[in-house]
Amino acid sequence: MTPEEFRRHGHEVVDWIADYWTRLPGLPVRSPVAPGDVRALLPDAAPERGEPLSAVLADLDRVVVPGLTHWQHPGFFGYFPANTSGPSVLGDLVSAGLGVQGMSWVTSPAATELEQHVLDWFADLLGLPASFRSSGAGGGVLQDSSSGANLVALLAALHRASGGTTVRHGVVPEEYTVYVSAETHSSMEKAVRVAGLGSDAVRIVEVDYDLAMRPAALAARLERDVARGLKPVLVCATVGTTSTTAVDPLAELGPICQRFGVWLHVDAAYAGVSGLVPELRPLQDGVEWADSYTTDAHKWLLTGFDATLFWVADRAALTGALAILPEYLRNAATDAGAVVDYRDWQIELGRRFRALKLWFVVRWYGAEGLRAHIRSGVALADELARWAEADERFDVATAHPLSLVCLRPRWADDVDADVATMTLLERLNDGGEVFLTHTTVRGAVVLRVAVGAPTTTRTHVERAWQLLAENHDWLSRDFAEAAAERARVAAAERAEAERRAAERAQAAERAQAERAEAERAEAERQATDRDAAAATAAAAATEVEVEPEVTGPVDAEATGTVEVDAPAARDETADRADDQIAQIAQPAE
Ligand SMILES: *Cc1c(COP(=O)(O)O)cnc(C)c1O
Repeated sequence: MTPEEFRRHGHEVVDWIADYWTRLPGLPVRSPVAPGDVRALLPDAAPERGEPLSAVLADLDRVVVPGLTHWQHPGFFGYFPANTSGPSVLGDLVSAGLGVQGMSWVTSPAATELEQHVLDWFADLLGLPASFRSSGAGGGVLQDSSSGANLVALLAALHRASGGTTVRHGVVPEEYTVYVSAETHSSMEKAVRVAGLGSDAVRIVEVDYDLAMRPAALAARLERDVARGLKPVLVCATVGTTSTTAVDPLAELGPICQRFGVWLHVDAAYAGVSGLVPELRPLQDGVEWADSYTTDAHKWLLTGFDATLFWVADRAALTGALAILPEYLRNAATDAGAVVDYRDWQIELGRRFRALKLWFVVRWYGAEGLRAHIRSGVALADELARWAEADERFDVATAHPLSLVCLRPRWADDVDADVATMTLLERLNDGGEVFLTHTTVRGAVVLRVAVGAPTTTRTHVERAWQLLAENHDWLSRDFAEAAAERARVAAAERAEAERRAAERAQAAERAQAERAEAERAEAERQATDRDAAAATAAAAATEVEVEPEVTGPVDAEATGTVEVDAPAARDETADRADDQIAQIAQPAE
């Protein structure tokens, strides 16, 4: 591609991006594709022959866009925002066009010095301690991510805690400990694993009701571990936790860290940039205790991924852990110690000219424009929280000092609240107008509404709120109808059971009556038979009495017939009655 071809196609690509941004609001926020859908649209083999750029652009629309969740959509309220902006894209384009490597000062002095300078600017803008400025013992650097920054901070802390021995001898198993809370970002535990300490080295310090680390609990754990001969390396305090933007109390944690000589790393990945706004700085009171600090311009500060601002108060610990100088990288400036070589401040050797996009962004918007962006997100989140607080359908689950609001929908008592909330979330996200994510707060599922996408306005937050309320109504109605249906079914089942019980009772009563009747009839029959027998006996007696007067033989057979036959007839009748009773007494099922 010649420069002239690049010019032409470059314009086409910029046009395509501008068109994408323009039509974003009409696209479903969350990608509707199923696993494998995107790959199914791609050819099995790479193209043997080059294709015109127009074919690639056409496939952006056909293959890529449907497979995107649109993070720049004004209805994107998921996770944390991942801002980009025109100046950021253009700065990155320049960086890409320059294609320089900034691993050492000498490999492109402007890449290093612009980065140092921009990081000093931001240390000022965010109100960070003087120790972080490049003019002192510390300094700032752009990392690829806060996850990377957390690892780098841990390596520097290990270097300091070990007196530099880890560089040669590595870590001693089960010697070092690292302190986090249950709300700390998972990348810190990952860093512990990557650094070779193993997850068992992680101590999870208790949090208070507001999900902030308890200083007393930290002190107790440090004391216990030191008493057992362990070496505490690093405490990771979070300003603005990922789950709920809880804030660990730096001003209280700092002195404890100092007392135990443990490195205080502040992970302010999302929230740190709010320090631009003076009224939000109190959240980070005590930041002067920090040995290192990370915040992402690529989350909430209008700068595209990747742009993590990372500072250390003592850069010697960092470079002590990471510097390595093979012969082929030696140069006079480095040897003279006159420059910073950023390869010694990061894991990788190679590095892009990332500072350009940040420089473009801060020059385009000015500190004032950046502050306005932060303030707008906070104000919109605050408004949303107030609507929710005034509404009986929702509770605001946690404090919302920044632009994230955690909402706990209220449901009827007979509804499984977590299932209902997740159903509400799926319904909202299926709708395509907004995208939210969830977390758990004190064991219950809550909805996270993270305001802060660059194009989100009050109208979009209002719409999100309206959709939340409408969907809550629909679902509540569904749940109420389902509950009523369940109640109807249960009532019908109860009535049927009662009907059968009554039937059984009636049958039993009938059987009882028939048995009584049979007994009565039997008794009557016995009485009748007794009477008859008595009568026969009396008659026989009479016959015997008159016998002497009769001449001739007594008709013994005739009198015997009466005496013998009568009991036999009685037995048959009794047997029949017993059979009848036995039949009636069978349960009538
Ligand atoms: C987002 C986040 C991270 C990870 O940031 P990346 O830059 O995406 O690696 C770390 N810590 C906290 C508190 C976060 O919110």
